[in-house]
Amino acid sequence: VSSLASRCRTFKVLVIGDSGVGKTCLTHRLCAGEFPSRMEATIGVDFRERLLDVDGEKIKLQLWDTAGQERFRKSMVQHYYRNVHAVLFVYDLSCPSSFSGLTSWLEECRQNSVRQEIPRFLVGNKTDLRESRRSDGLVSQERALDFARTHHMTFFETSAKSSPNAVEDVVAAIGAKLKGQ
Ligand code: GDP
Ligand code: MG
Repeated sequence: VSSLASRCRTFKVLVIGDSGVGKTCLTHRLCAGEFPSRMEATIGVDFRERLLDVDGEKIKLQLWDTAGQERFRKSMVQHYYRNVHAVLFVYDLSCPSSFSGLTSWLEECRQNSVRQEIPRFLVGNKTDLRESRRSDGLVSQERALDFARTHHMTFFETSAKSSPNAVEDVVAAIGAKLKGQ
């Protein structure tokens, strides 16, 4: 009898966005308790796994986070996008330039993914900073929702720092979407 782990389907999920938006913190949250892979030093990508139960089926999400070395990533870009099942586009809602930056991440994704209908998720991170900032320095939900609709993305706001529940909602949504594939 094969073990549960060997039978469960694995999905590759990329976590991309500007430096500093919280991709690594978010990936840690999404994969709480799971071990980082040893690949990280070799290819400039930090990859973590998260087992998930979706309506009784066990699936495995393999989250690929850039290890902060853009020049590594440039040469690795095709490897990075190979056999991707879903992409998480992350911005920092207290940093509008990270939201504008999404356009180039989308373009990179478009150029490098073979399948164009890959599920895409838009994640506005650092909701905890909304309280302490002037609203004109923030990316509004309306603006983000509009962007998400235009680019066929599922939109979430999270705080990797203080809102584990919101992060779990993202995991659940990814799992639900991928299970049906
Ligand atoms: P990355 O470059 O996209 O991987 O970003 P990191 O995960 O390294 O986070 C960049 C900085 O933002 C770090 O100082 C984190 O502590 C901080 N950070 C990440 N997520 C949050 C969040 O939800 N709220 C707040 N306030 N800070 C965060
Ligand atoms: Mg990082």
